[in-house]
Amino acid sequence: MKFGRYEVTLLEAGRFKLDGGAMFGVVPKVLWERHKPADEKNRIAMATNLLLIQGEGRNILVDTGLGNKYSAKFKDMYAIEDGFTVERALATVPLTVDDITDVIITHLHFDHAGGNTIRDHKEEIRPTFPHARYYLQRQQYEWANRPSEKDRASYFPENVMPVKAAGQLELLDEGGPLFPDIELIVVNGHTPGQQLVRVAGEERSLLFAGDLIPLAPQVAIPWIMAYDLYPLTTLQEKKEILNRAAEEDCLLIFEHDRDIQAATVHHTEKGFAIKPVVTF
Ligand SMILES: [Zn+2]
Repeated sequence: MKFGRYEVTLLEAGRFKLDGGAMFGVVPKVLWERHKPADEKNRIAMATNLLLIQGEGRNILVDTGLGNKYSAKFKDMYAIEDGFTVERALATVPLTVDDITDVIITHLHFDHAGGNTIRDHKEEIRPTFPHARYYLQRQQYEWANRPSEKDRASYFPENVMPVKAAGQLELLDEGGPLFPDIELIVVNGHTPGQQLVRVAGEERSLLFAGDLIPLAPQVAIPWIMAYDLYPLTTLQEKKEILNRAAEEDCLLIFEHDRDIQAATVHHTEKGFAIKPVVTF
């Protein structure tokens, strides 16, 4: 789909499952299971939908998915499916990892940054995209180096340190324009220094909502993940982003939704509602 000077493609680079209760926080299961049915272990199906933005001589990837460096035990716990890698997703375009010029990392949780690096045939871990600059907020990088007991299970140094060692990591001190018509929006409720990505188009813009609004049903304001470190900050940030998306008739991208990847947003009496866009 075209947005101004860029061609934007959605890539499904992974499938896994997370606990439904953790994904919907204080919302009772009787409400959320209508949207996302749980398996026998109370887990719901999740995707890793990545964004490829092409134009101005760049192939920009937003997030890198789960990657492929996990133990059998870890894969089983999160029901990580084989066969969905960022390399395979890029091949459908077709592109290879060598073609990626820039990687925007929303934050360093393993389901967003796991594909940053690969284990090569010599068992060494190195950047997946050898020619790319990787962009991350410094605040998130520093948090990931010293996470709390609540969220440290989501961080693996192997997803970022080899990128830093290779000199490919760009730490940013604020949001704002990164490239022409590509803006980073920093939010802090889920984790400090998460960056969302907005692509400005002539008629319609696009907003990659990351883990601020990872699933379509979370457009409902109180539907906030138990994973979030500062849920009331998330609540405020969701209101601001959804207001902006509704005013701009913006296309929202839900990074983890397997059923509704993209939708527009509008105001209702109760808050916000979405209109799925299926032709993305
Ligand atoms: Zn996250």
